[in-house]
Amino acid sequence: MDQISTDVLSHLGARDPEAARILAGEAERQETTLELIASENHVSSTVMHSVGTWMTNKYAEGYPGKRYYGGCVWHDAIEDLARDRAKKLFGCNFANVQPHCGANANIAAFMALLKPGDTVLSLPIKSGGHLSHGLKPNFSGTFYNIVDYDLDPETELLDYDAIRAIARECKPQLIICGFSAYSRTIDFAAFRSIADEVGAYLMADIAHIAGLVAAGVHPSPFPHAHVVTTTTHKTLRGPRGGLVLSDDEEIAKKIDRKVFPGSQGGPLMHAITGKAVAFGEALEPGFKDYQQQVVDNARALAAALVEKGYRLCSGGTDNHLMLVDLRGRDAELTGADAEGWLESAGMIVNKNGIPNDPRPPMVTSGLRLGTPALTTRGLKEAEMVKVADWLDRVMTSKGDEATCTAVREEIRSFCADFPLPH
Ligand SMILES: *Cc1c(COP(=O)(O)O)cnc(C)c1O
Repeated sequence: MDQISTDVLSHLGARDPEAARILAGEAERQETTLELIASENHVSSTVMHSVGTWMTNKYAEGYPGKRYYGGCVWHDAIEDLARDRAKKLFGCNFANVQPHCGANANIAAFMALLKPGDTVLSLPIKSGGHLSHGLKPNFSGTFYNIVDYDLDPETELLDYDAIRAIARECKPQLIICGFSAYSRTIDFAAFRSIADEVGAYLMADIAHIAGLVAAGVHPSPFPHAHVVTTTTHKTLRGPRGGLVLSDDEEIAKKIDRKVFPGSQGGPLMHAITGKAVAFGEALEPGFKDYQQQVVDNARALAAALVEKGYRLCSGGTDNHLMLVDLRGRDAELTGADAEGWLESAGMIVNKNGIPNDPRPPMVTSGLRLGTPALTTRGLKEAEMVKVADWLDRVMTSKGDEATCTAVREEIRSFCADFPLPH
């Protein structure tokens, strides 16, 4: 653990031992387990400590130069820095760094582009989309008319001809691309051509692949998408938060108004500070190497799993994640069982529905695995083979206690050689 973290823990321990004990437990959990959740990462200690500062004390409703509160001179400076770095990173003219999370970025984008009742064409969550793209209980499914497109049932890939046909029929005002559990490259130009044909806006939600995009390891949604939304805490490796980007001046003005005062109050200036620092890190040359390694590692992990008889949805991966169809290995295996067994063995994963999954969402037939966090710790292709071995040993044993305990100890000592970023 870095010195600042140690100091923070002992400072907190002297004043609030109860909270300090919990934080120490979480630090130890992260140090000693393998994080395979595709949407998670380990931020640098620089980013981590930049979030816990004086910036937490201030109201800064409004935008740099136009605040509703006095005393914002340094808040203007840090938000400008974050916006400028975001624009540079993604090669666009506009950034709003205030959304508290990815879902909030999407709320602002919907409000900027649509009126209630308008039609939105998106991939449903059961096929790899995100709940903020139209799930019934979500704001998106509540206030808008959602029409689904789907993956090709055979190839499990996006079928652009089929999407075009549905778009012609339902005439949406907005088409959404960008997903939570899709392991293949997205053709943003193809989506734009469909949007243009039916007069719809195109929104690319790159929450998962933002880091890959920033590094040029996945094609950019610019100049194709009218609006790009993302989180900052997945492959982008920043603090938890959201971000909206655009190249369209008119849309940009609307986005600013729909983030504040449309859907949020005061921005989280401590998080915006962390975003500025993280975007700075992403602009460094090493970030491209990191993202390339994320993709190389995903490919290596996928190959090792296929070799052991697992079926991957769509047959593999082009990005940082893969969706494992557990039935390919053992018809009885469920995502829920595997998730529990693997956690007891020191591997943190999430169960995930596979396309057309016959099992309910709390059970599922799949696991979603990702390499961003492992790559941050310095694991490379050779270690992916080891990880696949551990995954397979635990699942083949059906969570046998002795096996899980043995793997847990192997992983604990393995993790000591790959410390969290300092
Ligand atoms: C993770 C994710 C989000 C939302 O992120 P939160 O920060 O949890 O609100 C939005 N869209 C997609 C595609 C995602 O994967």
